[in-house]
Amino acid sequence: MIINEVKCKSILNKSGISVIDYSINPYYGCAHKCQYCYAVFMKRFTGHTEPWGDFVDVKINAAEVLARQLPRVRKRSRISFGTVCDPYQPLELKYQVTRKCLEILKPYRHRVSILTKSTIVIRDADILRKLHKVRVSFTITSMDEKVRKIFEPGAPPAEKRFKAIRTLAQDGIRTSVFVAPVIPYISDSSATITDILRAAKNAGAEYVMFDTLNPYPKVWRNTQRLIEKHFPDKLASFNTYYTNRKTYSIHLRERIRILGEKYGIEYKYAF
Ligand code: SF4
Repeated sequence: MIINEVKCKSILNKSGISVIDYSINPYYGCAHKCQYCYAVFMKRFTGHTEPWGDFVDVKINAAEVLARQLPRVRKRSRISFGTVCDPYQPLELKYQVTRKCLEILKPYRHRVSILTKSTIVIRDADILRKLHKVRVSFTITSMDEKVRKIFEPGAPPAEKRFKAIRTLAQDGIRTSVFVAPVIPYISDSSATITDILRAAKNAGAEYVMFDTLNPYPKVWRNTQRLIEKHFPDKLASFNTYYTNRKTYSIHLRERIRILGEKYGIEYKYAF
């Protein structure tokens, strides 16, 4: 793993996502090394040539820059941590860049959301409790450790993520589950969706949101390669997804609706 300490000029960046005003990414790169990660495009902007997951640049001055930028931001903005990195990837234990940024946000009344796969977020419950409005969303794509090890080799097992949700929820911090991406024909069975909905409800998550795989060329090729290697019997079905996304999405929505209603937890679609 190549680790660089870098200084950023801006940490609060206008978001291109409609439900978010600003994003904060305390790191460039992500040690969770998810194989479907669309943030791999960040390599272009940072000059990195190493494989995704093999480098992390730590923005060591992020909190200072945030303190300068925040007074210029509209009140009650929607600020999201972790749009192109995991703000609680392992290096956060040492550097605490995310924690320091949360400290800076404490006196403001912004709406903060955090997207992570990591249990390290529990460490910051003391600050999260003091923020005006905050939600921690955990990405969980499968309960199957084989799938996790292939597609998210650097991230903790789903079971640990659910434990973290429970801990935060019991502490009064709002949480949700983001199933993204649903990997076609690998993590989209009724059994998988049921397991996730049930575990989310038991842990105290407020809702579960689902999203499908966006077949950006690099993401598509990488996912396809892994399915060919580890799940060869699923490859033909997986390949149909590329040209048949609309029908696939209709069927997936219906399956989620039926199971969501059966298990009595709020479900949402991001697709
Ligand atoms: S945790 Fe998120 S940002 Fe990090 S590699 Fe996985 S998908 Fe990409």
